[in-house]
This record gives sequence, C-alpha cells and structure tokens, in this order.
Amino acid sequence: MTQRTALVTGGTGGIGSAIVRYLAGQGHRVATNYRNPDKAEAWRKAMAAEGIDVCMVQGDVCDPDACATMVRVIEARYGPVDILVNNAGITRDTTFHKMTYQQWTDVINTNLNACFNVTRPVIEGMRARKWGRIVQISSINGQKGQYGQANYAAAKAGMHGFTISLAQENAKFGITVNTVSPGYVGTDMVMAVPEEVREKIVAQIPVGRLGKPEEIAHAVAFFTGDQAAWITGANLAINGGHYMGW
Ligand code: NDP
Repeated sequence: MTQRTALVTGGTGGIGSAIVRYLAGQGHRVATNYRNPDKAEAWRKAMAAEGIDVCMVQGDVCDPDACATMVRVIEARYGPVDILVNNAGITRDTTFHKMTYQQWTDVINTNLNACFNVTRPVIEGMRARKWGRIVQISSINGQKGQYGQANYAAAKAGMHGFTISLAQENAKFGITVNTVSPGYVGTDMVMAVPEEVREKIVAQIPVGRLGKPEEIAHAVAFFTGDQAAWITGANLAINGGHYMGW
C-alpha cells in the first residue's frame, strides 16, 4: 500500500482515535488537530505507547484561518494531505422550540462549516496531484432526523450534500468523496446520553448492540484505499440495521 499523509479531524475522540489507529496501522502518516493541550498531550502519550506517532496541531475546526494554518503545518512536517477525514463533531441537543441560536450555530459550525474550513486548504493540492480521498463522518440522524436534534440532523444531512457535490466536481482529478453515516457508537458522545435512553436506543438496533469505533474506522479505511477509486459520492450507513432507508 502506498504510504500517504492522512488528516483526521477530531482524532482524539472515540471514533477519531479508531480511525487514526486504523490508518496508521496501514502505514499512513497520520495527523490530527486538538483544542485542549493537556487532553491532547495525554492522548499523544497513549498513542505513542501503542507505537503510533501522530502529528498534532492545535486548531479549532470552526476557525477557517486556524484550519489553513493547521494544514500548512501538517504538510510541512508530513507532506501533502492525500486523505482527509472530516470527523470532528459535537451535539447540542434540545427540541427546536427551545433551541438557542448558539446551540444551532455551534453545531452547524463544528459539523458542517468545518468541512469547508478543512477541505478548502487541501483540495487544490489534491487536484494538482490528481489523487485524493475525502470522507465525511455524518450520522444516521442526518438520514432519518431525530427528536431533539434539528441542528445536528441539518448539519449531518448537509455534509452529505457537500459530499455529492464535491464528488462531481473532483471525480476527473482522481479524488473520491464519500460519506460514512454511523449509527449509535459507544463513544463519550453516546455514553453522555442517559442510560435509560441508551437502553431504548439499543432496543431499536436489530444487531442488538451499540457500534464499535473500529467498525467505523474499517469503513473509512475502505473508502481511502487505492481500490476504492470507483466509489465516489456514496453514503455508507453503518448502524447495526437501525435505519435501512436509501
Ligand atoms: P467524540 O466526542 O468522542 O469526539 C469528537 C472529536 O471532535 C473530539 O476529538 C473533539 O475534540 C473534536 N472536536 C469537537 N469540536 C471541535 C472543534 N470545534 N475543533 C476541533 N475539534 C473539535 O465524538 P465521536 O468520536 O463519537 O464522534 C466523531 C464523529 O462521529 C462526529 O462527527 C459525530 O457527530 C459522528 N457520529 C458519532 C456517533 C456516535 O454514536 N458516537 C454516531 C454518528 C455520528 P475535543 O476533545 O477538543 O472536544
């Protein structure tokens, strides 16, 4: 496998860590961003203990200038970014009639506008080199909607609109753009949901359990490989059968 430079946003989180591990395990040079230096240092040490060296750059994905700088720093150290995984995300759940403007914009900025902020500085290089892999981590709730998540569902559905437009614009340049839409995965984001609500969610999953971060990472790695060159504009639902719509 050709060794490439991969940028995984939100790499220090539950799903992000699994993606970092998987891509590093395939021999890629992997980079990620962080916000909190103490948390980042603890994570970096844990990865180093596993033998994984990650290029870590401070940067908020909501800040376009910080993202452009982040990409420059990563490219100076590891070479051009060939694989981008737009994974950083947050939830700010509440029913829409109680939702504040801040809850709306925080979620749209972190999940959707970040795709612009991070993809824009890497796309021209990918086009010039005629190779690239871009994967958005969306969500089952961007496909089916979710009570209390008008902000998150809008952002996650928007990510797939972004995917299919970018896929069309860049197909001739050897760049594939795809979406992975996980169902409920047992990371901090989902473990923050009250236990009785989580139990009700699991009861709706035909496979009968939450997903594992590695199961999402496996799909991301599939999309980023050389052999996936003919798959672009796709949305892969990985949700234990929780939602089987188109
Ligand atoms: P985590 O909360 O574990 O991780 C989120 C990561 O995103 C963290 O590294 C966090 O960094 C980073 N992040 C958040 N906001 C910003 C920001 N403004 N700038 C830079 N980094 C930021 O979440 P998961 O691993 O569970 O989720 C990963 C992705 O998968 C998200 O996009 C989520 O929406 C999606 N997803 C998750 C599902 C699940 O069941 N867990 C289901 C479907 C989709 P920091 O430590 O600084 O906060």
